[in-house]
Amino acid sequence: MSSGWREAGLRYHTLNWFLRQTFGCRVAKVSVDAGFTCPNVDGTAGMGGCVFCNILSFSPSRRLTGGSITEQIDAAVARLRRPRGPQKFLAYFQPATNTYAPLERLKTVYAEAADHPDIVGLVIGTRPDCAPDETLDLLADFSRRTWVLIEYGLQTIHARSLEWLRRGHTFESFLDAVARTHARGLAFGVHLILGIPGETRNDMLATAKAIAAVNAHSIKIHNLYAVHDTPLADLVRRGEVRLLDLDECAALVVDFLEVTPPECVVDRLGGTAPPSYLVGPAWCQDKSALRVAVEAELIRRDSWQGKMLSAATVFDAEPATASPSGGYDSSPFSTGDVERKVTMDCEAGQMAAGSEGKGRHTGCKALGREESPGSVGQGGG
Ligand code: SF4
Repeated sequence: MSSGWREAGLRYHTLNWFLRQTFGCRVAKVSVDAGFTCPNVDGTAGMGGCVFCNILSFSPSRRLTGGSITEQIDAAVARLRRPRGPQKFLAYFQPATNTYAPLERLKTVYAEAADHPDIVGLVIGTRPDCAPDETLDLLADFSRRTWVLIEYGLQTIHARSLEWLRRGHTFESFLDAVARTHARGLAFGVHLILGIPGETRNDMLATAKAIAAVNAHSIKIHNLYAVHDTPLADLVRRGEVRLLDLDECAALVVDFLEVTPPECVVDRLGGTAPPSYLVGPAWCQDKSALRVAVEAELIRRDSWQGKMLSAATVFDAEPATASPSGGYDSSPFSTGDVERKVTMDCEAGQMAAGSEGKGRHTGCKALGREESPGSVGQGGG
């Protein structure tokens, strides 16, 4: 079932399509900064944050808070509202870990946003290891009065990659959060990264297939990109990490979309950062470049979101419950199954491209140092 987006001529289930169908008008997200920090920064889950995260963004002088929650929403709405522009807005609790505070504080800031007359929903960016039952219960309460989406930063199912990224959480913690989120009837999205050093195309496909099995409301795909003042930026500058080029990234995004269920909303295809932050890849600065390349690749393959699901028996499997404990060499789904499936589809002439990169690594040598990263953009919570 495509929820109508295919009939509308789309090749994937865009966020804009979903929001228009759900709210009956153009809807935009407004980013809200509640001043939270992150357990992967303060020593609870780790020190210094993820390898790609600009920790300087946690400093008060760098946080673009712009006042109270209400004042931030007012300012953003004033900027965005225009004739034929968005008429309704979602409050997106975006920077840092937006469930990482005492329950009463969470209740206060969520309520301030939910009560704003221009807000029709809450989007809460967080980490999978930071979703205790009480917080999910609180969000379930809010979901009875407004639209609510929790976004979990996962990035990859592979243990070695999570370690390399210095995420400070596991795939198991994600599955645990997902089970408890589903139990409350809450919708959740998943943040994912393509191009993590050492991951092959099949590793990324294994992540895509695992996410296909957990019934996520939406996905946000990011290409790995580097911003200043992060360990990743140092690795890129030293030539120890190679970032995906545009064509590689577009092919991988299409691979990912092809095994993503049609019902799943595609919130983002790639990531970028402001020019003053971005170290690379340079193509990220053109915000439409990846979307254009992905659409061209979908047309070239005559493909669409979920196309490869129909014949993939692996998707009949139970949702992922096991850990990809062997990192790159094992996953909840058999890489061999994925490989056979790709081969089968190639033989059927359905997947001419995208299989070319099979087995290719997006290269890196090692992570250079142990201290601080930070929090711009990709990955989230
Ligand atoms: S990316 Fe998210 S989880 Fe990682 S350090 Fe930054 S805020 Fe924390």
